[in-house]
Amino acid sequence: MGITRGFVGAVGNTPLIRLEHLSERTGCEILGKAEFMNPGGSVKDRAALGILLAAEASGELKAGGTVVEGTAGNTGIGLAHLCNARGYRCVIVIPETQSAEKIDLLRSLGAEVRTVPAVPYRDPNNYVKLSGRIAEEIPGAVWANQFDNRANRQAHADTTGPEIWQQCEGRLDGWVAATGTGGTYAGVALYLKQQSEAVRCVLADPHGSALHSWASTGELASEGSSVTEGIGNSRITANLEGAPVDEAIRIDDQTAIDVLYDLLWHEGLFLGGSVGINVAAAVELARRLGPGHRIVTVLCDGGDRYRSRIWNKEWLQSRGLRQPERQQLGSVA
Ligand code: PMP
Repeated sequence: MGITRGFVGAVGNTPLIRLEHLSERTGCEILGKAEFMNPGGSVKDRAALGILLAAEASGELKAGGTVVEGTAGNTGIGLAHLCNARGYRCVIVIPETQSAEKIDLLRSLGAEVRTVPAVPYRDPNNYVKLSGRIAEEIPGAVWANQFDNRANRQAHADTTGPEIWQQCEGRLDGWVAATGTGGTYAGVALYLKQQSEAVRCVLADPHGSALHSWASTGELASEGSSVTEGIGNSRITANLEGAPVDEAIRIDDQTAIDVLYDLLWHEGLFLGGSVGINVAAAVELARRLGPGHRIVTVLCDGGDRYRSRIWNKEWLQSRGLRQPERQQLGSVA
């Protein structure tokens, strides 16, 4: 790979990891794009960089300017790193329900963090809408607007999609991922379908999100909730709009937790909650397609950001979830 230029140069070009045990158990090749290896620790470094470069290119973001965003954490973390690297001020609005690790990290990185109550999107005080208003009030500020700014999915169509296609040497049968903004799922799905119509694009969804219903019946409807962070939505964002969706798979939290501990005990990978949804959906897609297929998903971020939550037995119990015992772990496939 040679020498890269600063933080920006280190974003992307992540390994595509064959999940050995799950591949063996399913008879399919299950591959995870190692986005937790980005310099800011998550898949959102790509979106943050794409949004920032687009704002610089359009002239909207000028030297010494301010970047404002409403974020569940990872986009803010990516933006905070990038703002340091490029000399901008960073203002982050985050729901207070997000993990303390992410909120603390944002502060350590030098972002100005405003925690706000978690209220639905229809409420004018929703963190996303609030961040838009704050951006309007600060002179010289730009609103990253990751949900509806298509520079987000474009970053994935330009980098994540082509990397996956090249790493697979054009041989893959399925792409499956959960969506928050929709940037990762849609950008990759649009690119892969351009290369081959035969690649099956599957949207994974936690409970409490309306997207499984939307993809299956056309109606936005949800029930239940999820302990996963950064995924699920009650609406179709500009980033998700028009993306190919061949089918959807809904995963419950206990299944996702079981898969996450399985990935740690059997693959040595310590990952975040949304990865449990993604990999469990990849296993379900393997079951639906049958042996002999190659399926790609995303390993969005690492487990460190959730040590007080999904990696904590008492916290899991407080949410009615069971921490799997290492020796009791059977096959989740
Ligand atoms: N997983 C995690 C942990 C995230 O923070 C996000 C972003 N909110 C996603 C998955 C989903 O990515 P996207 O916004 O590209 O849909």
